[in-house]
Amino acid sequence: MSYTHWACFDCRKSFAKDESEAARKCPECAEKMIDMGAYFEPPRRLSKKRWDVMKVLADYGYKFNTKDSKVYIQNRILQTKNPRVADVVERIELEKQKQRTE
Ligand SMILES: [Zn+2]
Repeated sequence: MSYTHWACFDCRKSFAKDESEAARKCPECAEKMIDMGAYFEPPRRLSKKRWDVMKVLADYGYKFNTKDSKVYIQNRILQTKNPRVADVVERIELEKQKQRTE
């Protein structure tokens, strides 16, 4: 069975559990969690900005399913260790435009 990281953006926590079709619920607040992929590295709980960036990735459907996707997200989308949310959104939009014209 392959496992993945389920993230709760309300609690800013992630839980390593097996994959499932239905979204798992957070054991702490019972909200639905988001499957962020096996290679997701949760930011520290107090790094609210980092979590906001991860939420943006989740909203756009980015996941850390493979090593390659992790490298892609880090190099093309995040770029720096502590990127600004607005910059991340801008880079995602640019990537989307590129994919459309390719
Ligand atoms: Zn929660």
